[in-house]
Amino acid sequence: MKKIAIVGCGAYMDSGYGCAGEWRCLKAAALGEGNFKEPVQVVAFVKCECPGRSTAPNMGVAVKMSEIKPDKIYMSSCMAKAKPGCPYASADEMAEILKNKTGIEVIQGTHDYH
Ligand code: SF4
Repeated sequence: MKKIAIVGCGAYMDSGYGCAGEWRCLKAAALGEGNFKEPVQVVAFVKCECPGRSTAPNMGVAVKMSEIKPDKIYMSSCMAKAKPGCPYASADEMAEILKNKTGIEVIQGTHDYH
């Protein structure tokens, strides 16, 4: 089973409204739905916090400390596809920052649940 890490938008997660990071990404990963083409193991879940400057370093620490290198990093749908979007960085910019920091492929978006 592939191993993956997820990073979610903390500003959205802190608002709750039905998902504070507790189920949508994890359900999609467990079932292989949305952008997960098959069930995967989630080995890290990092919460982005505004303005996002600590996100890539925190992901780097999570990968290092867990001693499990994920095959891919997924940006949550609330981070990659939400409207209005992040005021600090576009999804493309954040994906590039994460990839440059970790050397791991970054997928934008996790699930299609509403
Ligand atoms: S920097 Fe952007 S993606 Fe990160 S928590 Fe803030 S609004 Fe969300």
